[in-house]
Amino acid sequence: MALNDKNYDYLVVGAGPFGAIFAYEAAKRGKRSLIIEKRSHLAGNMYTHTESGITVHDFGAHIFHTDNKEVWDYIRQFADFNGYQNQVVANYKGELYNLPFNMNTFYEMWGTKTPAEAKAKIDEQKSAALADLGDREPRNLEEQAISLIGTDIYQKLIKGYTEKQWGRKATELPAFIIKRLPVRFIYDNNYFNHRYQGIPVGGYTQIFEKMLNDNPLIDVKLNEDFFTHKDEYLAEFPRVLYTGMIDQFFDYKHGELEYRSLRFEHETIDSDNYQGNSVINYTDAETPFTRVMEWRHFDGLADEGKTIITREYPQDWDRSKEAYYPVNDEKNTNLYKEYAKEARTHKDQIIFGGRLGQYRYYDMDQVFNAALNEVRQEFDIDQDFNFAHDEEH
Ligand SMILES: Cc1cc2nc3c(=O)[nH]c(=O)nc-3n(C[C@H](O)[C@H](O)[C@H](O)COP(=O)(O)OP(=O)(O)OC[C@H]3O[C@@H](n4cnc5c(N)ncnc54)[C@H](O)[C@@H]3O)c2cc1C
Repeated sequence: MALNDKNYDYLVVGAGPFGAIFAYEAAKRGKRSLIIEKRSHLAGNMYTHTESGITVHDFGAHIFHTDNKEVWDYIRQFADFNGYQNQVVANYKGELYNLPFNMNTFYEMWGTKTPAEAKAKIDEQKSAALADLGDREPRNLEEQAISLIGTDIYQKLIKGYTEKQWGRKATELPAFIIKRLPVRFIYDNNYFNHRYQGIPVGGYTQIFEKMLNDNPLIDVKLNEDFFTHKDEYLAEFPRVLYTGMIDQFFDYKHGELEYRSLRFEHETIDSDNYQGNSVINYTDAETPFTRVMEWRHFDGLADEGKTIITREYPQDWDRSKEAYYPVNDEKNTNLYKEYAKEARTHKDQIIFGGRLGQYRYYDMDQVFNAALNEVRQEFDIDQDFNFAHDEEH
């Protein structure tokens, strides 16, 4: 079977951001790519669709936030961004708290009104925890979190949420998962500290359509799994960018890398406003979902009388489920190193990229940055991308 019938320069496996940016930039340099994508749509986990006038993020809330000006300029070639700021509310058994931990949270928790009062309260709680530990280091996530922030915040805002996310008791999770717990002694509910933040008006999928559709040097084949014709693809394409799972590429020969998965439950409700905020985290252990998103609050756009919410449920991963988060503990990190070593022996033909190809959690800005760096390396470019003004989009 001739899969490379158009004399493509690249096979790109995956139409998520890493693959799309690579193919788009390769085309600008006269190189022809075939993108194959096993899902029925572009954009990977950044995929959004619109229904009832509401832009729904199918794979969980995606808020673009970065300090990287080059990446911020780059993505804005393809979409206008609104000024969305993420402000999350936590619901602990009916008690509401602002996140991230800031003066509003401390007021809601203890009634403290000044930074000095809040600091004194946190210090009092931390000292009690440190006294319990004595000379030894925290042995698990629970001890670590309490020594950093004290019992009240840990019990109400960290414990249940973290246990649901990881599917394990906090006392059975390693301490290193929580290295720091940033606290703000100002009244500021903005979830991210980054300079640039927002959501594209009309969603993320348009970005991928502008990059890939109607591009004479790019063809996209949806619903096509690389593994259906792995050997033929590798035999026919001179260069391959692979953004799927690295262990699967090598047929799991060193063992299976672990992931956490998620399940999303979408519901349309006859209402103009269901929960009054874009994201509410459920931080108790009993509620089975971790958060509820209400999409109309991300951009203020929706048909009258309709709202769409999504409940996010963490779940264990197996090969039948989507792999969302790598588990970067020692065991998996060492296993990944085995695969990465093997990958280097194929570097003349294959680039492994993105969150699955490199087995690491990437935020969108980081994956954009990594893809642009890959382009710089592949095409021997030693300058910054400055696309903000030289594109028509
Ligand atoms: C719930 C959730 C919320 C997030 N929220 C944010 C946020 O608020 N802000 C932020 O910056 N980032 C967020 N992210 C991270 C963001 O989704 C990633 O940075 C980004 O999607 C990674 O891009 P990628 O190209 O590496 O992978 P992906 O987007 O996963 O793309 C890889 C593509 O390859 C395809 N593929 C895999 N294997 C094969 C195969 N064998 N054959 C063909 N195709 C294949 C997949 O179907 C997929 O489309 C979030 C992630 C999740 C899971």
